[in-house]
Amino acid sequence: MIVEKEIQCVICPAGCELRLFCDATAAVLHRLEGAACAKGREFAERELTDPRRTLTSTVKVRGGRFPLVSVRSAAPLPKHILPAAVAMLGAIWTEAPVAAGQIILADIMGAGIALVATEAVERKKNDEIPEKRIVRVTGFLYNSNQRRET
Ligand code: SF4
Repeated sequence: MIVEKEIQCVICPAGCELRLFCDATAAVLHRLEGAACAKGREFAERELTDPRRTLTSTVKVRGGRFPLVSVRSAAPLPKHILPAAVAMLGAIWTEAPVAAGQIILADIMGAGIALVATEAVERKKNDEIPEKRIVRVTGFLYNSNQRRET
């Protein structure tokens, strides 16, 4: 029995809508429609056997000019570990300064793939107010003015 499955290729921004014709176990690809290039077939085959996604998120920074640094996995991770990996990132932190490309975590959830910073975060000077606090103070002053006018 042939089973039909529709997925979107996420390899490039074209985002081709792929139609897969597989065997009943959905593990063997017999025919593929909708792929604009050969990478679509590679993606479809991997989706059936070992689906992966690149993880992008943020990690807390101690002593930095900004409280968070953006990060991504150095290679796509097995899709099934992504929810646990995202939860784990919420519990870790790194120390400023952080350089773009710096390894934040050598091995994400035992997958053998590193987590790297995608931007630099400088260390804050002693007298510098963290960016997050500036936003809060501005919001407070704005609200105070509103109250005075009414
Ligand atoms: S099939 Fe090729 S062109 Fe289409 S989204 Fe995938 S990589 Fe891009």
